[in-house]
Amino acid sequence: MISISEDNEMTIRYDMHLHSSFSTDSDASAEEMAFHAQRLGLDGICFTEHMDLDYPKGYFPEDPDAFCADPDQVLNKVLHLRKTVRARKAFLPGASVKNALFPLWIGFGLEFGMQPHLSDRFHQIARNYPLDFIVASQHLVSSLDPYYPEVWEHKNPEDLIEEYYREMLANLKTIEDWDTLAHMDYIIRYIPGRKEQVYDSISNHAQIIDEILCHVIERGKCLEVNTAGYKYGLGQPNPAPSILRRYRELGGENITIGSDAHAPEHIAISFDQTAGLLTDIGFTHYCLFERRKMYPLRFHSV
Ligand SMILES: [Zn+2]
Ligand SMILES: [Zn+2]
Repeated sequence: MISISEDNEMTIRYDMHLHSSFSTDSDASAEEMAFHAQRLGLDGICFTEHMDLDYPKGYFPEDPDAFCADPDQVLNKVLHLRKTVRARKAFLPGASVKNALFPLWIGFGLEFGMQPHLSDRFHQIARNYPLDFIVASQHLVSSLDPYYPEVWEHKNPEDLIEEYYREMLANLKTIEDWDTLAHMDYIIRYIPGRKEQVYDSISNHAQIIDEILCHVIERGKCLEVNTAGYKYGLGQPNPAPSILRRYRELGGENITIGSDAHAPEHIAISFDQTAGLLTDIGFTHYCLFERRKMYPLRFHSV
């Protein structure tokens, strides 16, 4: 069960978006990730390994299942860690006695890479596994991964961004099985030449962004605040503060927070800075999920 320790000084104590070597783009073992989270004093983490079914062929021709974790393997690992992490915790270098009193909550999640034809398959996975949390992500635009610079060649970046948001909304309307919308403006991380600059997509795409935010609110889902933006040098989370502000203005209250770490050193990255930003905007709480049920947790002493 999720247990909340009130005397922990960190303002955000759960990292709800993490990867390990079950995801193609991470070399870190789940053990390393869990033990490092304990060293940081977190109360809980949720593994959200990639489930990008039908990821476009061509990027990884040698591995047709790239970016598709095996849910059985992830579940087995999480169950194993739930039994063992508590026992080993006290022996960690640097672990304080206080921390040793609190076992780490370890969630079993998946990150669904949305495409319109995957709704039934996602539903099957959601029904067949004891998932705590499902993160919905738009990783593609026009069936291509905007991570690759050639996707942007000979295109007006704003057209590609608009198309990205349109596909996201269509997918969110089709796919029911998700709890939070991850890194909503993910595509801006990869705009060629903009990597080191803050880019704000809201001014050129306000209407479609509003439609997406309203959809999240109407469905009673969460918007994710993904702090990997700091790791990528964006100086802000994804989505950008302007989008978070707009979500709040439209009545959005429920957010989840995750670092999207693929390596131990990125767990909980910039969480304190993010807590300040979120409370300034007017968010009073963030949300945890266990067995797909939402648990709001108030920010305090920021
Ligand atoms: Zn993602
Ligand atoms: Zn991720």
